[in-house]
Amino acid sequence: DRSNSKPHVAILASPGLGHLIPVIELGKRFVTQHNFNVTLFVAPSPTSKAEAQQLQSATTPKIFDIVELPPIDISNIIEPGAAVVRVLRVIMREIRQSLRSAISNMQSLPNALIVDLFGTESMSIAEEFNMLKYIFLPANASFLALTIYTPFLDKQVEGEYEEQKEVLRIPGCSPVRPEDVVDPMLDRSNLQYHEYVQMGVEMAQGHVDGFLLNTWEDLQPKEMKAFRDDNQLGRIVKAPVYPVGPLVRPSGSSGRSSARKLFDWLDIQPSKSVIYVSFGSGGTLSYQQVTEIAWGLELSQKRFVWVVRPPSSDSTDAAFFHGGGDNRDPCTYLPEGFTKRTQHVGIVIPMWAPQMDILSHPSIGGFLSHCGWNSTLESLLNGVRMIAWPLYAEQRLNARLLTDGLGVAVQPKELPVKREVGREEIEEMVRKVMEDGKDGIRSRVNELKNGAQKALCKGGSSYDALYLIVKQCEQKLQIVE
Ligand code: UDP
Repeated sequence: DRSNSKPHVAILASPGLGHLIPVIELGKRFVTQHNFNVTLFVAPSPTSKAEAQQLQSATTPKIFDIVELPPIDISNIIEPGAAVVRVLRVIMREIRQSLRSAISNMQSLPNALIVDLFGTESMSIAEEFNMLKYIFLPANASFLALTIYTPFLDKQVEGEYEEQKEVLRIPGCSPVRPEDVVDPMLDRSNLQYHEYVQMGVEMAQGHVDGFLLNTWEDLQPKEMKAFRDDNQLGRIVKAPVYPVGPLVRPSGSSGRSSARKLFDWLDIQPSKSVIYVSFGSGGTLSYQQVTEIAWGLELSQKRFVWVVRPPSSDSTDAAFFHGGGDNRDPCTYLPEGFTKRTQHVGIVIPMWAPQMDILSHPSIGGFLSHCGWNSTLESLLNGVRMIAWPLYAEQRLNARLLTDGLGVAVQPKELPVKREVGREEIEEMVRKVMEDGKDGIRSRVNELKNGAQKALCKGGSSYDALYLIVKQCEQKLQIVE
């Protein structure tokens, strides 16, 4: 239905599954709960097999239009070895022209443009076509707070953030430990740091109609209050902040049939007895670390499902752009005899697993995770306790929230990016999270699960937050008509 009678939202997704998955869910909400038309513009991605699959499954049955923007060549613009944030910003800068012409050629102009965190420079297109403008962060409130406040920290703090003796203070929000800053803040001379500061500047410019966060009010009440308070972060965050999450794929969507052996096995394991181990779509570990995890799992004698990728010694996000590592079967990197010795207690899955279906299986009781925000939400929504093993991007912030803030995760004594975590420590953490002592992790994670479900129901905080945006779009439609 392309008629003008329905409000129409355009959403722009930057490359990366962690960005694509939640915007697809956002699009679905507008269509299924509010009867909107949605057009999803997808930026060309350097990797795309897994993304193509996501798009495919999101479009069957087809409930909204997906427009893949044409590929671009950035090899002349980008410097060799450019870091992820820099690459994403350059891609999103270069697609503006094709986005603009795609929008101007549409039969009916959308009433709103929602860009994700890397697409803020496309706001001028929305401006030109008189559309409402929103920024969606596939992340939580602490990330928005830090990003929008970094241009101020940039002026206040001397030297590298990581080397500061004091915590970094953000008005009204939980302070950030120097070692937890996001990747682009680790090296202030790197171009990606400048891109990141610029993202904060663009977000604070005040021309947007709102920010959408993939979190919910009760998960981060302190930050949500700070955004609204003119004496705190509210003086910088000039537009309303709408927590509309958790936006998570429903289980049953990630392909149970593709992994029949795995699910047949899970079906016969005791309730909550299996730990799931995975480092997201981009995470990679060193060879030594893979070895220690194998031994740690084996020593713990707990049941496990482990998604294994070829190790990489260069970086922790080696799989982000190119699927990661070489073409060797990743199982060949495991200690000799490991798969045989653990054949009755564990399953190793090479490269990629149907994560949502695994996490929602009743046999899963724990998740050793890199704390990507989507993985985190998927775990919380299923009441699964975590071992927080942050690697890159904003994952150290997420891990801190899960451990110190919410008390639903255990963590290694030192950040895994600083040094390898040894097998005994891994064994201990696995036991701790699976055996559920008197530390209350189990009841807290269940409280969060219930809170998340409540927020999403009609009348819940996240439902209502999205409804406010829905109303604004409807008003815009009337004005245009
Ligand atoms: N994912 C998956 N199978 C895998 C690895 C990842 O389905 O083997 C999905 C996962 O469920 C999540 C997304 O990919 O929805 C990863 O997003 P996240 O924010 O957790 O981490 P990122 O990959 O962006 O670091």
